[in-house]
Amino acid sequence: VLGSDVDEDMEVDEEIAEDDLLGGLQIDTSKEIKVPDRLVDQVIGQDHARDIILKAAKQRRHVMMIGSPGTGKSMLAKAMSQLLPKEDLQDILVYHNPDDGNEPKIRTVPSGKGEQIVDAHKEEARKRNQMRRFIMWVLIILVLAYSFIILSQILIGIIAAGIVYLVFRYMSRGNDSMVPNMIVNTANQQTAPFEDGTGAHAGALLGDVRHDPFQSGGMETPSHDRVEPGAIHKSNKGVLYIDEINTLDIRSQQKLMTAIQEGEFSITGQSERSSGAMVQTEPVPCDFVMVAAGNMDAMQNMHPALRSRIKGNGYEVYMDDTIDDTAEMRRKYSRFVAQEVEKDGRLPHFTRGAIEEIILEARRRAGRKGQLTLEMRDLGGLVRVAGDVARSSDKQHTERDDVLEAKKRSRSIEQQLADEMIERRRDYEMTISEGGLVGRVNGLAVMGEDSGIMLPVMAEIAEAHGPGEVIATGQLQEMAKESVQNVSAIIKKFSDENLDKKDIHIQFANDGIEVDGPSASVTVATAVISALEDIPINQNVAMSGSLSVRGDVLPVGGVTHKIEAAAKSGCDTVIIPKANEQDVMIEDEYEDMVEVIPVAHISEVLEIALEGEARKETLIDRLRTITGTALSSDVEP
Ligand code: ADP
Repeated sequence: VLGSDVDEDMEVDEEIAEDDLLGGLQIDTSKEIKVPDRLVDQVIGQDHARDIILKAAKQRRHVMMIGSPGTGKSMLAKAMSQLLPKEDLQDILVYHNPDDGNEPKIRTVPSGKGEQIVDAHKEEARKRNQMRRFIMWVLIILVLAYSFIILSQILIGIIAAGIVYLVFRYMSRGNDSMVPNMIVNTANQQTAPFEDGTGAHAGALLGDVRHDPFQSGGMETPSHDRVEPGAIHKSNKGVLYIDEINTLDIRSQQKLMTAIQEGEFSITGQSERSSGAMVQTEPVPCDFVMVAAGNMDAMQNMHPALRSRIKGNGYEVYMDDTIDDTAEMRRKYSRFVAQEVEKDGRLPHFTRGAIEEIILEARRRAGRKGQLTLEMRDLGGLVRVAGDVARSSDKQHTERDDVLEAKKRSRSIEQQLADEMIERRRDYEMTISEGGLVGRVNGLAVMGEDSGIMLPVMAEIAEAHGPGEVIATGQLQEMAKESVQNVSAIIKKFSDENLDKKDIHIQFANDGIEVDGPSASVTVATAVISALEDIPINQNVAMSGSLSVRGDVLPVGGVTHKIEAAAKSGCDTVIIPKANEQDVMIEDEYEDMVEVIPVAHISEVLEIALEGEARKETLIDRLRTITGTALSSDVEP
């Protein structure tokens, strides 16, 4: 059964399934979970892509898969090759062309036949050689005997015998050219071929003819023997997979198109100055199904004609990044652990507790409540590291502790860097997480995809000599300007100060980390308001949020990582947009360290962050009068 659920022959306790991390699976270790044989049944989630692959395999259509790395694109392409009929496979042979040595002939024969043909030719050549050698020796003996005995001329005899020997050597050389060169051998293929052409250079993709340093004089290798197949030929009757399709150079993309169109493609030497470039074979079959993959970028940069060729003759599918967290899915994720353990072959199987921890991590990485991540390659990496941790201490099973240890060890570069920076900043006392300061706000940013960092924003207001300006350092100028412009409407409404006559200086203590404008706008606004009104801000508060011109706090990305960074930096309160409340999945250890306060409007931010009772009230009261309705659904990155 396609994508069969794990519980087919496993015991599932339906009573507890809903709440159980393993979806009610009644197991002690992952060893008890049966892994399906077919690759297509091992794929987790991606129902849409899987359906397409099944359909495309039946109809022999091309497929374009777009999605994040590690979500199973190449896995599905390989699965597709297992679904194609094995009966169609062919062996491809290159023969010497006696009429034109530079245009070798191509013959295709049913799978397995190629070896027989080559063997037969070799046998024939061997016999012929044997015969020749026999004749040669007879001749040599005759010549020697004649000159020694009849002519008594030893020297002439030896010279004559040598000539006979060389003539025969030369004749038998040509013999090898009779044996064909098998460039595609499918005799031992269990399934239709799967070729990965990702990042292949032209020769590896389209085939090549090797250079021959001895181009004449009896030392040369016959041209048909120098022909090498490309991935397009090796994948004949199977699947050609190319990831990052847009990085393929345009000429190769064009040739690939021709190959797809014609179903055959001549092999020629790819480097212009090599002797191989003179050789061009007859067309070589390359009847493959193309599975092209890439991220969203790839679509914009790939050759439009190639894309339309795939689209016109096949399917396009988008890979999911996350999937609903249901009991059935959690059972499949448990099976995933078993799959990865078996695929690796050396890892100890996982205990219940260890599998649970992996599933918790899948939840966390999804970044959204009620979802599990489908970036399975990385999750598989975690399984392997955890297994290695257990193995290095000679454990029989991988336990929960090992997974926790693995999580610590397999931090991304960005996480390591972020942690390092947080440490360093604390050492240098650049981090302020208590007391009150005017014009300084602890903002939060994301580095990479999975790590947060606290970045203070400072604002200072000065009387301008001319018209007021927003001044920020470096490339952040534009971004700061926009942020201030966004909040200026609000400031104008609540403040008697006239911003037009003031210079607003903004500094991001970002240490070269990229600052995302929109998600820093609540921070900038708060800093400016504090500076303008001369009210200190609580430094134990950190915040992130995007601000609308009406003062609504809009959702941002990466809240979980941001909250954790605030906690690590010593803050005890974190303000996040209300719309992001669902996305908070911080680890247990941080739960007690920080209070997370979701807000919908800038007035709430000020209420929490500003110190000093009296004036604060009036300020916030004014702001409240312009409260709009918050919560637009679009998330700023
Ligand atoms: P992509 O081609 O999308 O970058 P791969 O197909 O190479 O990703 O995935 C790498 C590995 O991650 C696979 O070999 C498999 O072990 C695991 N994997 C990825 N996606 C899935 C999935 N949907 N179900 C099960 N395993 C997966």
